[in-house]
Amino acid sequence: MIVITQPNATEEQIQRIITRVREFGLEAQISRGASRVIIGVIGPEALLREKQIATMAGVEAIIPVLKPYKLAARDSRGASSVVVGDVRLGEHEDVVLICGPCSVESREQILSISTIVKESGAKILRGGAFKPRTSPYSFQGLREEGLRFLAEARMKTGLPVVTEVMDPRDLSMIEKYADCLQVGTRNMHNFSLLKEVGRSRLPVLLKRGFSATIYDLIMSAEYILNEGNPNVILCERGIRTFETATRNTCDIAAIPVLDEMTHLPVILDPSHATGKRSLVPALSRAGVAIGADGLIVEVHPCPEKAISDGAQSLTLESFRQMMRDLQPYIRLWKEQRAAKQAAAVA
Ligand code: PEP
Ligand code: MN
Repeated sequence: MIVITQPNATEEQIQRIITRVREFGLEAQISRGASRVIIGVIGPEALLREKQIATMAGVEAIIPVLKPYKLAARDSRGASSVVVGDVRLGEHEDVVLICGPCSVESREQILSISTIVKESGAKILRGGAFKPRTSPYSFQGLREEGLRFLAEARMKTGLPVVTEVMDPRDLSMIEKYADCLQVGTRNMHNFSLLKEVGRSRLPVLLKRGFSATIYDLIMSAEYILNEGNPNVILCERGIRTFETATRNTCDIAAIPVLDEMTHLPVILDPSHATGKRSLVPALSRAGVAIGADGLIVEVHPCPEKAISDGAQSLTLESFRQMMRDLQPYIRLWKEQRAAKQAAAVA
């Protein structure tokens, strides 16, 4: 970190800043310019209380040298991939489709959806057994029964399963059945939950909070990584804005931004981003075209009977059609990915 003093800072103020830096157990390297003094702070950044220094008399600015998200940062690792079951996401040669219903509603429902989405090219099955609902009176999920149905669908199709964890108290049960833990938009800031999933052996699909900045999302990923779990997938799922034509506003730029800032795989959720079935194929094409590592898409055999998120769920037929329409985009994605990987090796 570098501390820059104000042009009119007195010698006494400068000395007080230097003393404070040393009190933290850090070294201060002083360079005197014509009107300002620059104090280079050397040593472990964790020792420093940056905000305390920032409020001291005579300080004009503090410039961090290291990124606060040191584990997630692109420059910390270059690139990484995450394996869910036996499916690799990230530095890989294919776009990964994660598909299934919003909620697991019955054994028949999840078994039939899983077979059909697999036939159309899905690589991972999604389905909520614990549902975060705005109203406490809405369906809350089938809980362990839903997890058992998901595990049965995996047995039948071979598709690994991603499902949401809302409460650390449910984690050990969910870990028995799932291949990947989803942390939903409402829990992106639940730091105790993030720490718990950070201690899990399972990868984590972390969705962006609907009022969270990209920086907030990365810092939440950092919580998980910091607990020792290196397998985090980031998901853009739309944010709240003044726009009401869609359920959320899809921040499509978040995908290349996250790719520049972090080494983690990034996927798009076109279902929650739009809230509207008719818009999901267009957003899916946009996600693939912009280089997302995967898509998470809600599909239901009979959306008008879905217990949650029917309006944004694709029918089985519209899902098949979408997958056909995505193929030219996927081909282009593969060419671009191969070129990027070749450039990285050269
Ligand atoms: C979901 O995937 O069904 C879900 C509840 O997502 P989000 O947390 O993004 O709203
Ligand atoms: Mn949903």
